[in-house]
Amino acid sequence: MASQGIIFDIKKYAIHDGPGIRTTIFFKGCPMDCWWCHNPESQKKEPEPFTDALQTNSVNLCRSDGEIIGRSISVTEVMKEINKDIVFYEESNGGVSFSGGEPLMQKDFLNELLIDCKKNGLHTTLDTAGCASKEIILLIAPNVDLFLYDLKLVNDKKHQKFTGISNKEILENLLLLSELKYNILVRIPIIPTINDSKEDIADFGKFIQKLNIIRVDLLPFHTIGEEKYKKLNKVNRMKEIIPPSKERIEEIKKQLESFDLEVCVEV
Ligand code: SF4
Repeated sequence: MASQGIIFDIKKYAIHDGPGIRTTIFFKGCPMDCWWCHNPESQKKEPEPFTDALQTNSVNLCRSDGEIIGRSISVTEVMKEINKDIVFYEESNGGVSFSGGEPLMQKDFLNELLIDCKKNGLHTTLDTAGCASKEIILLIAPNVDLFLYDLKLVNDKKHQKFTGISNKEILENLLLLSELKYNILVRIPIIPTINDSKEDIADFGKFIQKLNIIRVDLLPFHTIGEEKYKKLNKVNRMKEIIPPSKERIEEIKKQLESFDLEVCVEV
């Protein structure tokens, strides 16, 4: 029997989670607690109360009466949803993306889905912060066509303060995937006052320079997740933080490019 997993959303016609038109499966559960997390409903492993329904283009199978977010679902059920849109993936060179939360926390469920997608000839993308053991990374990597690898901070002390965990394993896993020549896009959320100083950007540049990657994508901080904190009755630690200006993002892009990196800004 196929594994069960816990997800909190299936987003159809996604265009920011990899190439072409995609279906994105959002896994519940994350070992990190980033101050700026714009998907706070993803952090807890178990389904939890949520006071309202969210989003458009979403398959509304994760919420019960709009009050509980997250539900247990089988690989077969998820594949049924994925396979409904094969024609769109084919026309747009798209595919399937796994995001969260941290999908690696549900490694068997993720692995079965990846294997089934590859059997059906579908392109797979994994959006991950890489916080898992080396064994888990090596287990799932062969069926991932593209890694969207989120890097929050290179300075470990700051990483621990602002995400709740050390980045040692995260950096080691990224180096490993790069050495093994997997396709990697490094994604950096740009969070004012937390990881946007000249020193922070230089740390990113020096570390990423050593890697074989396709490019770096910058994700400027935004306040879209604000409402979710209220609905989850959680403290929003970013209340006073203003999104970075276009000028500051451009400066950061230039600083990273000075390390011989290709850099894009996600809008
Ligand atoms: S890794 Fe992603 S999902 Fe997890 S807490 Fe950080 S921003 Fe949120």
